[in-house]
Amino acid sequence: MTQESSAQVLRQARRIVVKVGSSLVTNEGRGLDEAAIGEWCRQMALLERGADGQPPRQMVMVSSGAIAEGMKRLGWAQRPREVNELQAAAAVGQMGLAQMYETKLREQGLRSAQVLLTHADLADRERYLNARSTLMTLLQHQVLPVINENDTVVTDEIKVGDNDTLGALVANLIEADLLVILTDQRGLYTADPRRDPRAEFVHTARAGDPALERMAGGAGSGIGTGGMLTKIVAARRAAGSGASTVIAWGRESDALLRLAAGENIGTLLVAPTHKTQARKQWIADHLQLRGAVTVDAGAATKLRDAGKSLLPIGMTQVEGEFSRGDVIAIRDVAGLELARGLANYSSGEARLLCRRPSGDIQGLLGYSGEPEMVHRDNLVLTRAAQ
Ligand code: GLU
Repeated sequence: MTQESSAQVLRQARRIVVKVGSSLVTNEGRGLDEAAIGEWCRQMALLERGADGQPPRQMVMVSSGAIAEGMKRLGWAQRPREVNELQAAAAVGQMGLAQMYETKLREQGLRSAQVLLTHADLADRERYLNARSTLMTLLQHQVLPVINENDTVVTDEIKVGDNDTLGALVANLIEADLLVILTDQRGLYTADPRRDPRAEFVHTARAGDPALERMAGGAGSGIGTGGMLTKIVAARRAAGSGASTVIAWGRESDALLRLAAGENIGTLLVAPTHKTQARKQWIADHLQLRGAVTVDAGAATKLRDAGKSLLPIGMTQVEGEFSRGDVIAIRDVAGLELARGLANYSSGEARLLCRRPSGDIQGLLGYSGEPEMVHRDNLVLTRAAQ
């Protein structure tokens, strides 16, 4: 990939997830690195505002460091092996972590929110949609979410495990354009530069290229859980929803500002497919339809020709039993499938909402959800315009 096109991938990113690892955040376990956290927050605030002719960006932080900071606060020199002790350390450390980000972001005039997720929140479709809509709402209100794994409640089955993977899952969840993994290394080399003099720095590659996994050998510093390999795998996962990934050194000056301005200061792993295309592909390929809604001619035209969302008022009939988050078919009056998409309401709710304006949702359901039955971002036309 040319320098110019990698610059474009970086510059065009509007929604960016930044992931920082424990060893950077806690200064190799010595305690929260106030100066470093302050620096990232300063840069994120500038990017959110869109200073110096730059467009405003939506920023999300995924930060590790809870366990390392908790250990420090509890005076534990060794990382405990017992899960309950790790969880206790995370609970102690997360307080400090959240407090530090809140303070540093507020100093920059930015509001922040703490979001703690587990794998179960991201694997279950209903919870996935809930987490997504909370994060999207925070972004719409210019609140910067600071995310970590909910370490205090995780058991093995619901553990994401490392925050590189969590960063990728968050990038998938909110359809970010770019995942920036800040770490204590400059990026990826073709071999271990400490051992192999022929090792070359990888400036850019295609995310998901199997050769990358061979290059990224063992783990990094012993403080966090992820090595280079987990970052490569995270990049592959992020690419699934069309996000490219940069792996860069967290102490590089103005790292985030320079990346957003198009300077490739680390290893850029470019997603082969575009993000809306990736999401729509996923919906189109979803064979397990739980149900269907029939829409009137007006709604069919709006979906097909104007790329609009499906509103409850355009629905005339609901078939099958489905939950919020399931993929459903959308049919025209003749019963032909027109589109597929993710339902915002269950089949029971949808039956109540048929032919009703979105303003009635609150009165009919007792709560006000999204105004759309299927949002256009979650909808794919399966039959071309005729
Ligand atoms: N969630 C863990 C923490 O905050 C760290 C996981 C990781 O470093 O990848 O301590």
